Amino acid sequence: MLTKIFGYDAFRMGQDKVIESCINQQDTLVLLPTGGGKSLCYQVPALLLPNVTIVVTPLLSLMKDQVDQLNELGIAASYINSQQTRQEQFQTLNQLQYGEIKILYVSPERLLQQRFLDHLHQAGVSLFAIDEAHCLSHWGHDFRADYLRLGQIKNLFPHVPIMALTATADKATRFDISHQLNLNDPYIHIGSFDRANLRYTIEEKFKPLNQLLSFVGTQTDACGVVYCSSRARVDDVAEKLKQKGFNAAPYHAGHENAHRIKVQEQFQRDQIQIVVATVAFGMGINKPNIRFVVHYDLPKTIESYYQETGRAGRDGLDAQCLMFFDSGDVPRIRRMISDNQNEDRVKVELQRFNAMVALADAQTCRRQVLLNYFNEPTTTGCGNCDICLDPPTSFDGTLLAQQAMSCIYRSGQRFGIGHIIDILRGSQGIRIKDHKHDELSTYGIGKEQTHDYWLSIIRQLIHQGLIEQDISRGSSLVLTEKARPILRSESTLQLAVPRLNTKKLFEKAAP
Ligand code: ADP
Ligand code: ZN
Repeated sequence: MLTKIFGYDAFRMGQDKVIESCINQQDTLVLLPTGGGKSLCYQVPALLLPNVTIVVTPLLSLMKDQVDQLNELGIAASYINSQQTRQEQFQTLNQLQYGEIKILYVSPERLLQQRFLDHLHQAGVSLFAIDEAHCLSHWGHDFRADYLRLGQIKNLFPHVPIMALTATADKATRFDISHQLNLNDPYIHIGSFDRANLRYTIEEKFKPLNQLLSFVGTQTDACGVVYCSSRARVDDVAEKLKQKGFNAAPYHAGHENAHRIKVQEQFQRDQIQIVVATVAFGMGINKPNIRFVVHYDLPKTIESYYQETGRAGRDGLDAQCLMFFDSGDVPRIRRMISDNQNEDRVKVELQRFNAMVALADAQTCRRQVLLNYFNEPTTTGCGNCDICLDPPTSFDGTLLAQQAMSCIYRSGQRFGIGHIIDILRGSQGIRIKDHKHDELSTYGIGKEQTHDYWLSIIRQLIHQGLIEQDISRGSSLVLTEKARPILRSESTLQLAVPRLNTKKLFEKAAP
C-alpha cells in the first residue's frame, strides 16, 4: 500500500509500528515533530480497515488540502464542515451511509453533534484519528474547549480504536491527552524531535529591523515567516519590508478573514515571499519549502518556538531559524505572565518561560538544549547552530566594566542604558550638554566601541548582577554591592565577546 498508493519506498522510523498497533485495534498515541509523517500513520490503516476512518482536525483549511491530496492519489476521502452548503453536506453523509468514503475529515464540534453521531453508528467506524491532539490539554499552547468533549468518543464507541497525534512532546501534555481521551493502555510512539536540517541562530537584539533586513538580504528569493509578538508590530514590520522592496504581507487575527485566506493562499503558491505574522499564522500552513522562520520577539515557551521554527524546511532541505533576543524583555514578560489569576497556571507558565530564556541565553549547542528539553539528551554539539558554528569567546572585561560602571556612578545612577552609552561614546546630544555630562571624566572614554558593543557589555553586567535596572525610575541603571570589588580593582571579570555580525552563518546555507 505504501509503495503502490502513496508512492514511498519505506516507512519512516516508527510509522510501521504505529500502523500495526492500530490495525490490531489498540489505542495509539503518536508524538512526531511537524513534518515527521503523522498523516500516513492513520491514512494507511484507513485503507486497510473495513469501515470509515474519522479524522478530527481543528482547521478547515487543512481539511480541504489533505482531502485534495488524497483524492489525487485515488483515495476516497472527503470532509464535512460548516462552510459547505446543506446540499454538499447531505451528499457526503449519503456517501458515508453507502460505505463510499474511507477517510472523512471533521471538526470536533461536528463530530459530537447527535445527528452526525447517529450517522456514524449506522455506517460503522474503523478508527478515530485525533490530529493536533494537544489542543485538548489545558497545559498545551493551543487549548480548544471543543477538543475536551472528544473524551466522549471512548464511551460512545468503546470498540473503535483511537489514534491521537501531536507534535507536542512534553510529559504533562502527553499525559493529559491520554487521560482526556480515555485511551486504553495506548501504544505510545515518540519520534525523534531532532530536525537536523534546521539551523538555529539566536542573535542579541540591537536594532531588530536592521538585523532583519540584513538577514532577509541573504535569503534571495526564499520564502519565510517572521513572527512578532503583537499585531501592531506585525503591521509595522511588514510595511517596512515592503518599503525596502520585499514582497511581504502581514497576517494576524485582527485582519479580515478574506485577507487572511488570500495571504495564506498566495504564500502557499510562492506569490508572497515573506509573511509577517503573529502566532495566529501557523497550524494551517502546509508549505514544504519555507526556507526561514524569524522570531522578531521572544516566544513564551520552547514548545511554541519549536512549533514555529518547525514550519521551516518540511521538505528536508536546509532552512534557517533566527531569533532576536533582548534580555531586557524578560522581566516584562514575567510580569505579564504573573498577572494571571490562576496560581498553578502562573507557576507552570513561568517555568516554561524560564526554559525558553535559558535556551536564548545558552552558551552551549542550541539543539542540545532543545532536545534535552524534549527528553532526548545528546552529548555532542550539532554543528548546525550559531553556538557550534561560531562559539562564544570570553575576554577580560574588567576595564570595560569599570568604565561603564564609573560612568553610571558619576552621573548619579539616574540614567538609562541609552544615555550611559552616549556618555561613554562622547555623544554631542542635547541631553548630554544639558546635564553637563560632557564634563565628566568618563565622557568619551569608550568611543572606540560601537553603540551595540556597549549595549551588549552593559546587558552582561546586568546579567551578572553588577548593575540593576530600576524600573520604578525609568529603568535607570544602579550599581549593586557586587560592583564594588571590580571598581576597586580587587577582582577581575570575564565577559563574552559581543557577537555583532552573524551574517556569515546565513550566507553559507542560503539557497
Ligand atoms: P506531519 O503531519 O507530521 O507534520 P506529514 O504527515 O504532513 O507530517 O508528512 C510530512 C511529509 O513527509 C509529507 O510530505 C509526506 O508525504 C512525507 N512522508 C510521510 N511519510 C513518508 C515516508 N514513509 N516516506 C517518504 N515521505 C514520507
Ligand atoms: Zn549546535
